[in-house]
Amino acid sequence: MTPNPYAWIDKSLDTIRRADWYRSPQLIESCPGPRVKLAGDWLINFATNDYLGLAGDDRLIQAAIAATQEFGTGTTGSRLVGGHRDLHRQLEQAIANLKQTEDALVFSSGYLANLGAIASIVGQRDLILSDKYNHSSLKNGAILSGSQTVEYDHCNVEDLRTQLEQNRASYRKCLIVTDSVFSMDGDLCPLPKLLDLARQFNCMLLVDEAHATGVFGASGAGCVEHFGCTGETLIQVGTLSKALGSLGGYVAGSAALIDFLRNRAPTWIYTTGLTPADTAAALEAVKIVQQEPDRRDRLQQNIETLKYAAFNNCQLPISNSISPIFSFPLKDAATALAASTKLKEMGIFAPAIRPPTVSVSRIRISLMANHEPAHLQQLVETLGRIAPM
Ligand code: PMP
Repeated sequence: MTPNPYAWIDKSLDTIRRADWYRSPQLIESCPGPRVKLAGDWLINFATNDYLGLAGDDRLIQAAIAATQEFGTGTTGSRLVGGHRDLHRQLEQAIANLKQTEDALVFSSGYLANLGAIASIVGQRDLILSDKYNHSSLKNGAILSGSQTVEYDHCNVEDLRTQLEQNRASYRKCLIVTDSVFSMDGDLCPLPKLLDLARQFNCMLLVDEAHATGVFGASGAGCVEHFGCTGETLIQVGTLSKALGSLGGYVAGSAALIDFLRNRAPTWIYTTGLTPADTAAALEAVKIVQQEPDRRDRLQQNIETLKYAAFNNCQLPISNSISPIFSFPLKDAATALAASTKLKEMGIFAPAIRPPTVSVSRIRISLMANHEPAHLQQLVETLGRIAPM
């Protein structure tokens, strides 16, 4: 019999299934919003990163339609070779204005922004210190860079200091890398303390504002603004696909950094420019983020309402977060899957998150500015009913 070099794929899938780690996407049959249609049923949606409810906002939809009608569906080339549009620069200037940085650069996704930024600014003779719970894109950026990477304990400034004391002197450049809001637990990094250490040990600091942009800070600039660190020399990365309701990613920082990335970042140079529709929708979203702070207020109100109901009324074991992301830990992957299915039967859409994404299986809950009190009430009651699982 001829050997089959692809036989390992079925074996690997079997292993994934046996561990209850098998994943497949769930079909959403409606526009994004606090309620979504799944398999014909309308469920309350706690499975979205659309924190401000902008992905279904008519102003973003109209901006995308107008840009498509004027400039077409695709940009047809990389930004350096025929794929550059004035809309891209407008968006980059709007992001730089929001973030109070000298400049910004838009990528085709947040994942690509992280890969490109990290792999360009550090290399084989350099050191990366990375929070253990950092997003996959930051971890893979570190691998792509070829740098020596040391993970420090999650949000543990003392461990980071120890790692710096032990390793910093052996390397040319050093980059500290962290999420600002961690995507699975919703907790915030200790940004001011990280900045202190970066200064003390002559390190660069890259902070991923994916879940913070539009959500934290008086003008929605993110955790950098929330912690009063605006104007500090750090590298901010993020996505256009969460609170900004579109698709794409960005790096914001000094004019020199952005100029350097335009000349070095492989995930920007060798990929097609962001579509006119995505660019125009994100540009509209940045304006709304700055002009409508009440959306952030409503989101904060929803976060407080959920915590009050979960902790004071029901003593539910959800994580205590000031961000819109909460986790409801469960004992294993099978239990998390069963809980998610049960929630769906009871009208709630909240995904099971399992290894290898996280070490502790859980239901991940994310809130939107346009959830209504009745939605949160139903969430708490339903979680209360499945809590003994
Ligand atoms: N960073 C973090 C912290 C994220 O959670 C995500 C998306 N899950 C990304 C980066 C990637 O962003 P995008 O979806 O735009 O690729």
